[in-house]
This record gives sequence, structure tokens and C-alpha cells, in this order.
Amino acid sequence: MREYLKFYIDGQWVDPIEPKTTNIINPATEEVSGTISLGSVADVEKAVAAARKAFSSWSKTSREERLKVLLAIQAEYERRQQELGEAITEEMGAPSALGNGFHVGLGSGHLATAIEVLKTFEFETLRGATLTVKEPIGVCALITPWNWPMNQIAVKVFPALATGCTMILKPPQLAPYSAQILAEIIHAAGVPAGVFNMVQGSGSVIGTALSTHPEVDMISFTGSESVGVEIAKNAAPGVKRVCQELGGKSAHIVLDDANLAQNVAAAAGGMMVNSGQTCSAGSRLLVPLSRMDEAIAAARQGAEGVTVGDPKSNVAMGPVVSKGQYNDIQRYIELGLSEGAKLVVGGPGRPDGLDKGYYVKPTVFVTTNDTTIGREEIFGPVLVMIGYDDIDHAVEIANDSPFGLAGYVVGADAAQCNAVARQLRTGWVSINGGFDFNAAFGGYKKSGNGREWGEFGFHEYLETKSLLGYAPAPAAG
Ligand code: NAP
Ligand code: MG
Repeated sequence: MREYLKFYIDGQWVDPIEPKTTNIINPATEEVSGTISLGSVADVEKAVAAARKAFSSWSKTSREERLKVLLAIQAEYERRQQELGEAITEEMGAPSALGNGFHVGLGSGHLATAIEVLKTFEFETLRGATLTVKEPIGVCALITPWNWPMNQIAVKVFPALATGCTMILKPPQLAPYSAQILAEIIHAAGVPAGVFNMVQGSGSVIGTALSTHPEVDMISFTGSESVGVEIAKNAAPGVKRVCQELGGKSAHIVLDDANLAQNVAAAAGGMMVNSGQTCSAGSRLLVPLSRMDEAIAAARQGAEGVTVGDPKSNVAMGPVVSKGQYNDIQRYIELGLSEGAKLVVGGPGRPDGLDKGYYVKPTVFVTTNDTTIGREEIFGPVLVMIGYDDIDHAVEIANDSPFGLAGYVVGADAAQCNAVARQLRTGWVSINGGFDFNAAFGGYKKSGNGREWGEFGFHEYLETKSLLGYAPAPAAG
């Protein structure tokens, strides 16, 4: 049993002002795995005051000083990777290989990237007589979701530190353990008091207190559209910067010249990684209509290859995060059936042999883009396949979505893949498996307005100041 009852404020582990706790449920067993404290508005006041006080000195540190701190965090992070992976498996059900692998690896990848970017980032540029200075925006509230818990924190905390901001992190109640370990890492690395603070608790209490707080300059939020909108409304009277990283229903386009069987099977299995709980999942698989039978067989094979079970064993997929998430996904599966979508594999209920834990069957439907399951983000291992007539039709379907987060294009002709990728109205497109920590990540349309990762993530935390006449032309003669 884990017990994380203290918050990290002003460089110390402190008790909540009003004691209140909640149990955390292990989604694989439905049993209590530990307890955390739930903070109050008074804890937020303390944390914001600490961050405000620390800002005056941290914002003036040199690049070298901040690099030293990030390198110290990196050494501690390396040391505690195993613990982080175990915590992620326990809190949100990622299989051990995924938790210790990609989950923890995304965190270290973003940390290494922030370090590299900081080494050469241009905080000042002179154009003519004008000096443009990029300055840290101030006190930042970082509000994160449970689905890739370390990734979501890493893409906010490390660039915020690197740019000289101070911060208050509000981790998700459903996945609070890895955040707690990261706070320990940051403490052990010697980050100055008040620069990084963490308060656990509910979004409605802690998140609202942060979004409305006059001393918070910026909010970086990753999560659902409804909460993103609420935060923006709460932040509007204070004219805060609000960066939103929201949901998606991204298209994975398999072009006609691709190896269809192989790519469809891989896409089906791939979207089910992390139980399909990935904002950028390719959850709409677009295949040539003329080859739908072949695609169905391949998708069935791909989904059937996804082994489901105890995340501590050697499986491809664990449970989904919570009972609420399980119920939401089941509702979508029922909806798919009642809407008349063709069920290829999976369906309602738990997989055979699993009668405890929030396990969902890897499920594939064939449908059209105008159905509810074709349009809404399901956030579970439920793939919808949609047939297209020609490439223009594929692009039209891909773009016919309220979201615009990601996209995937696979095909044999690189020029054609690139041309299709250019036409997608989304913030991030992976062509034939491309992946890059330096590429900006974020959405068009209802997928948000922020850009994280690499040097793009730095700009989120920076204000731009113009100093005109800074370098006047030398007097003639
Ligand atoms: P969520 O319900 O929106 O919660 C996200 C965070 O916001 C949690 O920490 C939550 O606290 C907090 N929160 C809840 N209500 C709040 C309020 N009124 N004010 C301020 N904060 C509040 O999202 P989720 O269910 O955890 O995550 C799933 C969603 O995230 C999906 O839509 C997914 O697509 C999206 N996502 C997007 C990206 C991206 O980069 N674009 C990445 C990952 C996930 P609690 O602890 O109380 O829940
Ligand atoms: Mg939620």
C-alpha cells in the first residue's frame, strides 16, 4: 500500500492544511492500492505564494544554472526509472513492459530534449536596433491527465523549468503516484525552494483555484475538451495565457500502394497500445473501400494479437484506468452496435477469463464517418474502420472531424504520403512511422491551441519583450 499524504510546497514536504484523503484503486484488481491527500484552496494559496516568491530569483538565473539543475534531475530520474514504471502500472494499468518502457522513456526523452534545446535556445535576438527578449511568463499552473501520466508532466515541467518559470503541478487523482515520485526526484536534484510545487486533489477544487488565482500567469492544461473550456472561462477574467492540449479522433490513412495486410494489422494493434487511451491514437483507420474485405481480415488479426490481462504479466494490454472509463467505453460499444456498425472483433463486456479489473475487449468496427463512434473520442481499445473511394476522399474524411490533433499516413510512394500529410488539418502527422521528440505536438480545432515538445514547448512559457533602440546605429562620420 502506498501512502502519499504530503504535498510539495516551497521546497518541503508539508501536510495539507485541512486533512482529507482518498483511496486510489488499482484498475487491474479493483482493490485499493494506496491513499493520497486531497488539497484545499488554502493549500493552493500556499503553493502559489511560494511560486511567486521564487519567481523573482529563478527567472533571473542563467542558462548554465538551469542546465545544471536539469542535469541533476536527469541523473535522479535515471536512478528511479524502475520505481516510476511500477507506479505507472499500479496507478493506471499500463503493462509493465510499457510502463517501464515507453511511459518512463517518454519522460526521459522529453527531459533530454529540454536539456539539448536549452543549450542553444535563443532567448535574445537583435534585428536592426531592436532587441527581442524572451522572458519567462511567471507562475504557471500545470494540470495533467492520467493517460500518459509521466509524459504529460514531462512536457510541461521541464520546459517550464528550462525557461525560468515557477510552477504548481496538479496531477490527476487517477494517477497520482508517478507525479509524487517525480516531485521526490525534483527535490533530490536540489531545485530551489518554491520553483516547483505540487498539490494533489480534485480538479474542481485545486484546478479551479489555480485557474482563477490572480497570481497565476499561465495555465497549461492537458485533458478533456469540457474541462479545457471551463479552465479557459475561469482564466479569462484574469487574462491569463491558457494552453490547451485536448482530445482527438485521428485518422490513420493506409494508402492503396501500402502493404495493406501488414499496415492494417499494425495500425489496429498500435491504436490499442495503452488500452487505446492516447489522445493522438489513430482511432479512425481509413482504408480503400475496394479492399475492405482484406482490411477486415487484417484488422481482426491485429486486434486478436493483442493479449489482454494482468499488467504485471507479459501482456500487450492491461485494463483501462477506471470503472468510469470502462463504463464510457462499454456505452460506445453498445452505441456502435445500435447504430448498425459492423462488429469485426471484440464487443461488449470483459474478455473471456477476466472477471475482475477494468478490462475491455480489443474491438474493431466498420462504420462511416458520420456515426457517433466515427466522430467522438472513445478513449479505449475501440478502432473504427472507414472505407474511402480515392485519395481526395480519404483526405476529406480525415478532415471531417471536430478535432485536429494527429494523423498517420502509410504508403509506398513517399511523395504521395507527403502530399496527403500536407493536406491534413491537424497539428502532427506521422508519415510511415515517423517519430521525433523535437517535433511540435498539439492540435488544430477542438484539439487545442498549445504546442508542446522540443523548442516549441519553450515558447509556451515565454513572453516576448521588444527593446527598441537597444542598439542604435553608430553615428555617421
Ligand atoms: P480531464 O477529466 O479533463 O482531467 C484532466 C485534468 O484536469 C485532471 O487533473 C483533472 O483533475 C483536472 N480537472 C478536472 N476538472 C477541472 C476543472 N474544473 N478545473 C481545472 N482542472 C480540472 O481529462 P482526463 O479524463 O484525465 O484525460 C482524458 C482526456 O485528455 C482525453 O480527452 C484525451 O484526449 C485528453 N488528452 C490530450 C492530450 C494532448 O496532448 N492533446 C494528451 C493526453 C490526453 P481530476 O484529478 O479531478 O480528474
Ligand atoms: Mg476525466
